[in-house]
Amino acid sequence: MPLDPALLAKAQEAAAVMTDAEKKVLTARAEYNTSIRRLHLGGASLREIAQALGLSHQRVQQIVDAAGGSWWQRVWSTRTKSRDLMCTFCERPPSELSKLLAGPNIYICDECAAQAERALLHTRRSGRFAPVPPTSKQKCSFCAERRAPDRAIATSSAGNICAACVRICREILEMRS
Ligand SMILES: [Zn+2]
Ligand SMILES: [Zn+2]
Repeated sequence: MPLDPALLAKAQEAAAVMTDAEKKVLTARAEYNTSIRRLHLGGASLREIAQALGLSHQRVQQIVDAAGGSWWQRVWSTRTKSRDLMCTFCERPPSELSKLLAGPNIYICDECAAQAERALLHTRRSGRFAPVPPTSKQKCSFCAERRAPDRAIATSSAGNICAACVRICREILEMRS
């Protein structure tokens, strides 16, 4: 039985529309979640965000926590840093660093975060960072999550950082500047 070319064309057209719509939903969801985290970083309480957006408190908590644990909430709430801190990765002191972010017992500067981001983006070594292979069981030093299909990790001799935590670093740095 030959395929009806008109019906086939219709199916192909619908498939293209679906793929496009799915891509748009993914992008919109990422933007939605980022905006919610930014509202929270900006000082809005989970309750306030939940009320304004008609979401449950738990849902907002989930969105806020989904970005690799909650180490960055602490970074944001304790913005004052003592003088003797330095980037764990490049070891330059804060006097030489324009931006420093504190994770749990680990610090990363804006330049090292950018290097890690490049390593993950291009899946090859960038400065101190190299992406770990997909089979690796390494953990992110910030959120403590392991390498997974949806969690790429960049490693260096001083520690690791995953794609989600790199993204959070960039969001915080962008909000500071
Ligand atoms: Zn650094
Ligand atoms: Zn992480």
